[in-house]
Amino acid sequence: MVRLCRYVTARMEVVIVKIISRDSWGAKPNKTKFSKLGEVKGLVVHWSAYPVAIGNQAEMDQLKQIQRLHQVDRNWNDIAYNFLVGDTGQIYEGRGFGNRSAAQGGNSRQEINYNNKHYVAVCWLGGSKPEDQPSAEARAAISWLYEQVGGELRPHSSFKQTDCPGDAWRQWIIEKKTATIDELKKATNITAEDLSNASGPEMVHPQFIQKKLDIIIAKLENIETKLKLGRLIQ
Ligand SMILES: [Zn+2]
Repeated sequence: MVRLCRYVTARMEVVIVKIISRDSWGAKPNKTKFSKLGEVKGLVVHWSAYPVAIGNQAEMDQLKQIQRLHQVDRNWNDIAYNFLVGDTGQIYEGRGFGNRSAAQGGNSRQEINYNNKHYVAVCWLGGSKPEDQPSAEARAAISWLYEQVGGELRPHSSFKQTDCPGDAWRQWIIEKKTATIDELKKATNITAEDLSNASGPEMVHPQFIQKKLDIIIAKLENIETKLKLGRLIQ
């Protein structure tokens, strides 16, 4: 059964999106607790450098392959990306929204922290050849994610010397081609059956939490001022 994610966007809207949750694609648990994502500066696009996955089953097989590569061969905590997208247009949950990725490493420790702390990472399930082209559905799904994340849209190669995510994505990012309404609808098409299965983990945009914290802090400061005033009057 496919579980969907209930997701709170930066605009404080609650939306149910067709993101296949970790347990639905058969992810292994993360080894240790994730570090939290900081203030979000944008979305970074990657490719998996595996042959393009064709169909949902191949996409889920590739997710497991990438997780094994990252957790076992590289001894990382978990699959590096926050989200992964296949040519079907399906979005899969990696580390999820509020967690720090491990995908935008730089040359210095500070840079690694910065790139991963402030940028959400999405990986397209393809790219074993430089000329590999993502489908219109994959592009629409990444457009949709970018709408939710906001800020800058960057290729991995803007952080370090790498072919990732390939010329097709780099061109798409430069031209800032956004998906048409029809493409977006197709990428996020939710059926009645999907809705009845929507019981996934709630993912909350960090900026939403920050806004809530700002409100609480303002209230506390107000109370503190009133207490000080009260003491002065006594
Ligand atoms: Zn990359």
